Amino acid sequence: AKRQGRNQIAWFTPAMESELRFRGELEAGIRRGVSAGEFVPYYEKQIDLATGELVGFEMLARWMSPTLGKVGPDIFIPVAEEIGAIAELSESVIRQALRDARAWDPKLTLAVNISPVQLRDPWFAQKLLKLLVEANFPPHRLEIEITESSLHENVGLVRSMITSLKNQGIRVSLDDFGTGYSSLAQLRSLPFDRIKIDRSFISSMPESEENRTIVKSIVALGQGLGMPVTAEGVESEEVLAALGGYDGLKAQGYLYGHPQPADITLEGLRQLHMT
Ligand code: C2E
Ligand code: CA
Ligand code: CA
Ligand code: CA
Repeated sequence: AKRQGRNQIAWFTPAMESELRFRGELEAGIRRGVSAGEFVPYYEKQIDLATGELVGFEMLARWMSPTLGKVGPDIFIPVAEEIGAIAELSESVIRQALRDARAWDPKLTLAVNISPVQLRDPWFAQKLLKLLVEANFPPHRLEIEITESSLHENVGLVRSMITSLKNQGIRVSLDDFGTGYSSLAQLRSLPFDRIKIDRSFISSMPESEENRTIVKSIVALGQGLGMPVTAEGVESEEVLAALGGYDGLKAQGYLYGHPQPADITLEGLRQLHMT
């Protein structure tokens, strides 16, 4: 520990120092990586359970760091948000994704995740439209995912953002539903096109009667509000069987494969004659 003035001890340990250094390197690495194009889209399949057909993909960002290797978004998104790099990062991966998705069957949709930090930008919808125009990508093929936990920040702002996106033909989903304490009144007042039930309720359905009840209720709620439902985190045939009885469901999860980079995704689509 290091002495600071009179009897003041700053508990600055070597572990903290190396953590801070790591944090500093992470921030610098993210800034550099955004300019260097190290952030790339991966794609996870989305299946219509009624037909078993592939209906689209969710884009999930990955950082191909020259020093750290492949890094997942749970590590770099919060840091990118804090250092003000999220908008640029997001724009970079969305731009790539729009280009990739243009080579897919035009029936297939592309879902992208948007940070609450981006939703606070009054120009967000404009910026997104600009990307769509640049890529010559039809807005109706794009779906924006907003997490339930980003709702409490400023519902009024989120509402007008959703409305302006929808006016352009872009669809908007409520992500990670069930984990974020949104009220039913809020849900009713926000014009989402779809609800995505969080993985934590889905993956344990076979063992948990409670979770089966919760999922059943959310599906019914979605039906009542005119918001079809996606189940995320479908990992096994058992989970799929537990979801079997519901109409209008979409599903995604490791049962259908892990998220894949653009080239492998495209190769898979060629085999399905969906390019
Ligand atoms: P999310 O939107 O809820 O995405 C689902 C996460 O669960 C993904 O993790 C996916 O790889 C993983 N997953 C999918 N199926 C299964 C399964 O069957 N079992 C298990 N255990 N996991 C499954 P990932 O790719 O690490 O992404 C984590 C979160 O990072 C995402 O959660 C999303 O909120 C955020 N994220 C990803 N890409 C972006 C981005 O470009 N921008 C922003 N703002 N956030 C992003
Ligand atoms: Ca998502
Ligand atoms: Ca989710
Ligand atoms: Ca999540």
